[in-house]
Amino acid sequence: MNHVRTRFAPSPTGFLHIGGVRTAMYAFALAKRHGGQFLLRVEDTDQTRFVEGAEDVIFSVLDQFGLTPDESDRHGGDKGPYRQSDRLDIYKKYAEQLVEQGDAFYSFESKEELAEHRRVAEANKERFAYRSPYRDLPLEEAKKRIAAGDEYVIRQKMPAGQGIIFEDALQGTMKFTTDDVDDGILLKSDGFPTYHLAVVVDDHLMEVSHVFRGVEWIPSIPKHVLLYKAFGWEMPVFAHLSLILDPGGGKLSKRKGAVAADEFLKEGYLPQALLNFLMLLGWSSPQEREHGESEREFFSMQDFVEQFDISDLNKSSPVFNREKLLWFNQQYLQQLSPDLFVRAFTDWVDHYGDDETFKQQLVAAGPEKVQNMLVLEQTRVKTLAEIPATLQFYFNEPGTVSFAEVKQLKNLTDEQVAGVYRDFLAELSRQESVSSWGHEAWEQSVRTIAERHDVKAGSAFMALRIAVTGSPFSPPLFEVMEILQKDTIQERIQRYL
Ligand code: GLU
Repeated sequence: MNHVRTRFAPSPTGFLHIGGVRTAMYAFALAKRHGGQFLLRVEDTDQTRFVEGAEDVIFSVLDQFGLTPDESDRHGGDKGPYRQSDRLDIYKKYAEQLVEQGDAFYSFESKEELAEHRRVAEANKERFAYRSPYRDLPLEEAKKRIAAGDEYVIRQKMPAGQGIIFEDALQGTMKFTTDDVDDGILLKSDGFPTYHLAVVVDDHLMEVSHVFRGVEWIPSIPKHVLLYKAFGWEMPVFAHLSLILDPGGGKLSKRKGAVAADEFLKEGYLPQALLNFLMLLGWSSPQEREHGESEREFFSMQDFVEQFDISDLNKSSPVFNREKLLWFNQQYLQQLSPDLFVRAFTDWVDHYGDDETFKQQLVAAGPEKVQNMLVLEQTRVKTLAEIPATLQFYFNEPGTVSFAEVKQLKNLTDEQVAGVYRDFLAELSRQESVSSWGHEAWEQSVRTIAERHDVKAGSAFMALRIAVTGSPFSPPLFEVMEILQKDTIQERIQRYL
């Protein structure tokens, strides 16, 4: 394969769709597989959509996913600038070249003229392509109007009745006719290019060899093909990725949960779990097909890079199964070493934690204690975002729970409960600390206490768990007690006596 250069070209809208991460990941993987470059270009030619801080979101999300560009406005590279608003002179030059060649023209329609055109088109209920009344205006005349200060745009001059055949590496052969395509704007009156001009010029000048983008760009293909032709440039390979669907049908919907990439991160999904899930939305491993490894679902980014090829993409629309993603995330959380699990959580708190008190509590508890707390949660949580709530009882005295609400406890008499608590406290006060006795010794001791008061062992454990943690669900009792330590446990049990 020739030198591979791919790009991700988001518009800085402040919102990076999770599907955009899939697109970026495919582009990244292809470049890495072939020792090429992955570049990031910011497509900010629509100034009406300018959003403060939007570029930061893009860079930060890509970084968190490990999809760091080799070239970009922030990473350098010799094919820049990599932000379209910094390339206006380039687009102007190429647009004017097209005008000189007769592939584009200066156009002067007023807002009223365009509105009238739209009105007629709608009244006729016909979908016909826009043909500008200025497309055949002699160039000399157009230039005179411009010199006189008339506002203008540059439009692409669509030839009549020309068939266009386009080979997409994923979607296959497509046919278009120029009769369906507008004399579209290439350069706007504010001097900014439209997407169509900018994307063609930039992909060429940045020597992009492969373009991954969404199927929503398919209708623009004829414009792009004609631009490449007019410039005499070779086209990159294109793969238009199918739309990701909601299980309920239609586009992935916000009503059912997160859609933006950083929302998923904020909800406590691990980047590597998300990437693995996204890989499989439209790709299957060739090894799986060759060796019948049909069950294989886990792929690290490295596995993926080693295998990824456009020919293994699937053109049917993948369904975004949120339960499956949650399952992946849980699997990934459980597979982390304890150290990495702690790291993942602390990174998450740094990035997305918004509870300042909780953050201070973590600092005050110190890394060792926090690590002990977290390790007990590793097999229990499905996302990192569930963790802060599960740790609350370590830091804040939990509310008391009514025994009538707990199955194992509601038939106990007050004397039985008090007996269990008193005997346990007596035992605790005989020990220097919780950890000076092994868990087995504690467990045996609680069983003996339970028997003494004619209570099932499970009920005695439950009564202690509730007093200490405020919940019938907690990590193993004695591990929790070791972290809470003697004084706190005593105070919490006292409240029930
Ligand atoms: N700026 C376009 C978008 O955000 C990029 C399309 C492309 O990749 O060519 O959808």
